[in-house]
Amino acid sequence: MPITNSVSQAKFRVAIVGGGMGGLVLALCLKKYAPDVRFDIYEAAAELAELGAGISMSPRTWLMIKELGLVDELLPTTGTQAPTGNPLIFRKGDEDPAIDLFELPQLHTVQRSILQQVLTKHIGGDDAIHFSKRLTSYESETSPTAPITLHFKDGTTATCDLVIGSDGVRSAVRRTMFTDLANHAENQGQTDEAAQLREMVEPVYSGQLAHRGIAPSSALSAYAFAQTRSPQLLMGKNGDIIIYPIAGSKSVNVLAIRYIPGHGKVFDGPWVESMTQEAIAKLFEGWQPWALEAIMAVEKPFRWAMHTVPELPTYVTHRAALIGDAAHAMLPYQGAGAGQAFEDGFVLSLILSSPAVTLSNLPEALKVYDDLRRPFSQGVQRGSERNGESYHLRRAGSDWENLSEEDSRAGRYPREWLKDIAEDVQAQMRWTFEANIEDDRARVAERLAALSPA
Ligand SMILES: Cc1cc2nc3c(=O)[nH]c(=O)nc-3n(C[C@H](O)[C@H](O)[C@H](O)COP(=O)(O)OP(=O)(O)OC[C@H]3O[C@@H](n4cnc5c(N)ncnc54)[C@H](O)[C@@H]3O)c2cc1C
Repeated sequence: MPITNSVSQAKFRVAIVGGGMGGLVLALCLKKYAPDVRFDIYEAAAELAELGAGISMSPRTWLMIKELGLVDELLPTTGTQAPTGNPLIFRKGDEDPAIDLFELPQLHTVQRSILQQVLTKHIGGDDAIHFSKRLTSYESETSPTAPITLHFKDGTTATCDLVIGSDGVRSAVRRTMFTDLANHAENQGQTDEAAQLREMVEPVYSGQLAHRGIAPSSALSAYAFAQTRSPQLLMGKNGDIIIYPIAGSKSVNVLAIRYIPGHGKVFDGPWVESMTQEAIAKLFEGWQPWALEAIMAVEKPFRWAMHTVPELPTYVTHRAALIGDAAHAMLPYQGAGAGQAFEDGFVLSLILSSPAVTLSNLPEALKVYDDLRRPFSQGVQRGSERNGESYHLRRAGSDWENLSEEDSRAGRYPREWLKDIAEDVQAQMRWTFEANIEDDRARVAERLAALSPA
């Protein structure tokens, strides 16, 4: 039976729409902390198949991995298996020789598919998920406690008491939520507000193209292999390349991003497309030779048009909530999107697990989730955008703004400009070292104490 936490006396039933990183972590947290909450995962894909790419985890995200009891299984699959991770080395790399800038310690790097397998195993295996269930919309409840109806593309329906949108950047849950809110505003004669709410439905193109994939370490020269032993982030004018080891050093993850000046808000073309190694390397001519070698060794490179979700005025309505990319898809310049999805799932599960939270006060309880998670995750969203501008040496108002790609590659700029970039990025990344799970628990408990009695 493809259902987990299917307790007969469940206090309510949760539908988790989307079995990506955020949905899986929420399911695992519910299993761990809220055994009296029943959940079902509805996933659009026919099977779980993560991208052929890696994922980096800051000390803050790794703390979640510890809390979930996954370290023993994941650590042997990280880049170098070092218990404290590895330093991430930042350099200016669109010139040769590269210029060392600074390092940030304790980065763990894993292959996405391995993380997904470990999460799925702990939830209860693949049969814990309903596959080929693409949500098209859900119907808002007709009474405070009536079931919510979910509609799927295959014509089937299901019901639940609470719907969680963990369905990524193009979320169907977000679409339904904000279309309903906009229709309601329109019916009240609030046409400007309705128009603003409709703007929240579609993701926005960032003007940044991510070229990514995995290369076998065995395909690299001794010099390039040595360079990839610790994660490196190469900054340059209008682009960056991050390369790090994964899978116990057997492979390296390559992510090479190009910023396209003068872009519009809508990307014209497929969001994900395969590309040749040569075409990608050409975009980074003049960058560090070992990084170009790693690009040429990527087995199945693909290009990803990066989109973000606008800053939403809420993550919740009545008995629906958004987590992860559905709520706050961000640019990858703090390596934080998945970590923020984990934190959403963790905090939400703590709220749902509380004996003070029942079907009748769920809407009020979800507001606690919104209050605790939205300001923080949207701050991370903004910080990621700012870091991208720094990595790409294009931050508005900075000395770098008007430097050409040619001058940057030729080293024709004053060296003291580098100090500003290094200081800004380090200050921006400080939060990724600060986390305290007990503080999160205390904050949730404090807010729930003020909840209306069930
Ligand atoms: C280039 C790049 C590099 C990144 N690197 C990092 C990094 O190093 N570290 C980090 O922490 N984050 C990183 N991120 C961000 C991270 O990948 C995302 O934040 C994370 O995957 C979000 O997880 P999610 O579960 O919210 O969404 P997703 O992983 O997108 O999962 C959504 C799931 O929902 C399913 N789905 C979609 N629509 C429906 C529907 N209608 N019905 C049912 N199911 C549906 C999808 O099939 C999918 O399984 C990066 C992102 C990019 C673009």
